[in-house]
Amino acid sequence: MSAAWQVVVGLETHCQLATASKLFCGCANAFGAAPNTLVCAVCSGQPGALPVLNREALDLGLRAALALGCNVAPRTKFDRKHYFYCDLPKGYQISQYDQPFCTGGGIALASGKFVRLARIHLEEDAGKAIHDRGAHSLVDLNRAGVPLIEAVTEPDLSSAAEAHEYLTALKEILQFAGVSECDMEKGSLRCDVNVSVQRPGGARGTKVELKNLNSFANVAAALEHEVARQIQSLESGGEVRQETRLFDAEAGVTRTMRTKEDAHDYRYFPDPDLPLFTLDEAHVARVRSYLPELPAARRARYVKALGLSAYDAGVLTASRATSDYFEAALRHNDAPKELANWLTNEVAALFSDAASGVRSIDELPFKPFDFAELVELARTGRVTRSGARTILRAMCAQPRAPRELMRELGLETVADSGQLERWCREALLGREKIVADVRRGEEKALGALIGPVLKLSGGKADPKAVREKLLELIRAS
Ligand code: ZN
Ligand code: MN
Repeated sequence: MSAAWQVVVGLETHCQLATASKLFCGCANAFGAAPNTLVCAVCSGQPGALPVLNREALDLGLRAALALGCNVAPRTKFDRKHYFYCDLPKGYQISQYDQPFCTGGGIALASGKFVRLARIHLEEDAGKAIHDRGAHSLVDLNRAGVPLIEAVTEPDLSSAAEAHEYLTALKEILQFAGVSECDMEKGSLRCDVNVSVQRPGGARGTKVELKNLNSFANVAAALEHEVARQIQSLESGGEVRQETRLFDAEAGVTRTMRTKEDAHDYRYFPDPDLPLFTLDEAHVARVRSYLPELPAARRARYVKALGLSAYDAGVLTASRATSDYFEAALRHNDAPKELANWLTNEVAALFSDAASGVRSIDELPFKPFDFAELVELARTGRVTRSGARTILRAMCAQPRAPRELMRELGLETVADSGQLERWCREALLGREKIVADVRRGEEKALGALIGPVLKLSGGKADPKAVREKLLELIRAS
């Protein structure tokens, strides 16, 4: 990207709230049900049906606002946003226009840059129109009325990489706070991008909106492409039109969807069925008290108080499930480094191996308590690392105590000092040169003896104990 241009990006992220029911009716908020089975008079827009605000949705919205450091408005209201489309039976979407429930707040990037949020508002989702089934179009209203928050940033981002980092952090925070699943594949997180380019210090360029971005990777790819397109157009004497473009992920290009001429006028006005309401401080304080420790705070604590590397802290807090599992195990085994090491390496390896039958941390059949014990057996040399790995696999198939499995599989290391000594003496025979090297202080040379002892033991000797015993024997000879 040419340094002669500045890139200006703002993001609008829609996020489905993890409520049991919809925003203004009692229909279930669920993914994957048969089409049009989660529908009632309210969310299908029947005349005379009256919306009633779902308190849980408001509280989850508040949680998001507090987790992102926003200012909660003392008074807020709902407005009707009018447009006509087959997936919107009322002819308008209930949203918030000039009095959103919160403003301000934002997310700090690793560089120290703070991406400001302009606002977050509550609104209902539309249904889903399906146009690729032959001669007919189909409409599924299960999603109509599902509660969303829309988080709108100021145009503070200046690259595809920053957009990606902001979205990753936003998703983490909303997941940790229990606001949303943020699963892009299920559509519970959707992102629109506004992008323009300008000369440094020059006038703001014309803004283009990108839609249809269904993964963070696509957001970054679409931005890269669109920025290059705008710069090329301006440098060759052309101009950038104000328009909405769709990203074609397969071709890796953006295409015009609609131009300014058919921009919408939504004729917003206050919804007369939903009066202005107040958010009292005591209630906001109660919602705040339910907020868990957020990912950035956890990462800082893992590094400072537990002595983990920044990298490990990042891997552990990438999902709340992993972080919670780690913390639960830590209550049973005060060995943070070993637990982190096992969780991010050996346990993570299970997820990419189909034979384990476990695809994610949520599917682990054994409890943090048992995991903590397994790590302790390995840490204290009761089993070798490869023995512990075998036990971990066995625990996936039959969730039993690692100690039991260790005995049953005959993986306990031999702690019998007499037996250990016999194996060591046998390995030392005829290896005078190594013995001499070790005596001279070259302990590295010991490595060549440990392997043979482990082999003699059939893998049942603990390498650490073998090392100590060998040293002891050589020094005494
Ligand atoms: Zn309904
Ligand atoms: Mn919206």
